[in-house]
Amino acid sequence: MQPLFDKLRILARGELGLTLGLLIVGALLLQILLAIIRGASRLRAERAQHRAALEKLQLQVQAAKLRCQEAEQGKLHWNGYRKFAVARKSRECDDVWAFYLKPHDGKSLPAFKPGQYLTFQLDLPGRDKPLVRCYSLSESPHRSDYYRVTIKQEKAPPDRPELPPGAGSSYFAEVVKEGDILNVKAPTGHFYLDMTKSNPVVLIAGGVGITPMLCMANAITASGTKREVFFFFGVRNQREHIHKLELEKLAAENDNIHLHVCYSKPGTNDILGRDYHHEGRVGIERLKEILPSNNFEYYLCGNGAFMKSITDGLEAWGVPEKEVHFEAFGPATVKKKTAAPTASETAFLAKLQVTFARSGKTVRWEPSAGNLLEFAQAQGVRIDSGCCAGSCGSCLVAIKSGAVDYLKAPDAEPEQGACLTCICRPKGDLVLDA
Ligand SMILES: Cc1cc2nc3c(=O)[nH]c(=O)nc-3n(C[C@H](O)[C@H](O)[C@H](O)COP(=O)(O)OP(=O)(O)OC[C@H]3O[C@@H](n4cnc5c(N)ncnc54)[C@H](O)[C@@H]3O)c2cc1C
Repeated sequence: MQPLFDKLRILARGELGLTLGLLIVGALLLQILLAIIRGASRLRAERAQHRAALEKLQLQVQAAKLRCQEAEQGKLHWNGYRKFAVARKSRECDDVWAFYLKPHDGKSLPAFKPGQYLTFQLDLPGRDKPLVRCYSLSESPHRSDYYRVTIKQEKAPPDRPELPPGAGSSYFAEVVKEGDILNVKAPTGHFYLDMTKSNPVVLIAGGVGITPMLCMANAITASGTKREVFFFFGVRNQREHIHKLELEKLAAENDNIHLHVCYSKPGTNDILGRDYHHEGRVGIERLKEILPSNNFEYYLCGNGAFMKSITDGLEAWGVPEKEVHFEAFGPATVKKKTAAPTASETAFLAKLQVTFARSGKTVRWEPSAGNLLEFAQAQGVRIDSGCCAGSCGSCLVAIKSGAVDYLKAPDAEPEQGACLTCICRPKGDLVLDA
């Protein structure tokens, strides 16, 4: 028996040695493996850092290039009105036409910021003074030979069918033809996409509000960057689908453009998946359903109710106000938040009287009106308006007595004794020549 035990002990000792040896080799291999993994992840992190640094550098180079271009382009800018010939007029859909405008002097055109607009001075028959109207540029900002605007003919309000249709837009729709000459001010406006940034953006357009958005999307694709764009466009159906082919081409050729067209009342020939992507309106629920998060910069343009519902929805969704930019084509239903006036300021403002001398109306100022133009319109006093941003000068009204406070600095100082009603409010009792 004893020799057997001895043999087994010798064998066990050998096994133990082998096991220990294997364990040591295993531990060594594990350490080597861990070192390899650590090295690889360090390498990956370094590569990511390099990539981020390179992207930052590329962005800085692009921003510097853009600044150089802007300085160069500044020389092409013009003051006052310049003559443009209508090179092409094309019908886009019901009531909407695109106008391709070439400078009559044949010289190059400056690039503009995507989202800016042109100001037109129109000599309409039967009017004692020219009508000033603004239209957003709807194509890429890098064409030096022509500009394009897209104009929807404004019909009489549904509840006042006896009123004439919009004067300026009807003139474009019915009178302006190829070869005509128009007076145009250089591109301007504070609602534009910052092309020095690379962050993803959400463009939201309702109806003819598509024009500045289309320009922004065109600018991104023309820049060659892969900046991500979620593009929402709401209309009733194909009859209102402005620049349909161009939008479809843009989305088909650029995988960074995610187009979502929503028809609220599709026509019988409109096909889901071919003509539009969603049935219903563009609203906050749609955005929540499609966007991976709320962490985007948002640009909106559409009618008042559309923008109000979306800006309210974005605020409730926790989107910071500074990430939401919007433009109204008429009186702004969405107001930028300003510091709330103190109780004594409110009490003082609420006592002010505004007299519209020509209309024979004296009314108590309502601070909630925001500016004198909107206040006048709410009182049934018609004051001409254009850009609603203190730039085009069409809402200029003479002050017979009193003074005004400007809510933002005018782009150009108004004439002595007059005020730009779209961006000011009374400072005390006020008498306007309106
Ligand atoms: C920055 C900016 C960019 C813009 N970009 C575009 C764009 O790209 N495309 C576009 O199509 N539009 C755009 N607009 C809107 C455009 O400037 C005009 O406001 C629009 O074309 C209507 O002008 P209008 O002269 O045709 O209408 P208006 O003559 O000003 O009439 C407006 C409305 O009032 C009604 N009306 C007529 N008479 C009366 C009366 N006595 N009392 C009450 N109501 C009356 C009309 O029926 C009409 O519905 C933009 C506006 C701004 C401020």
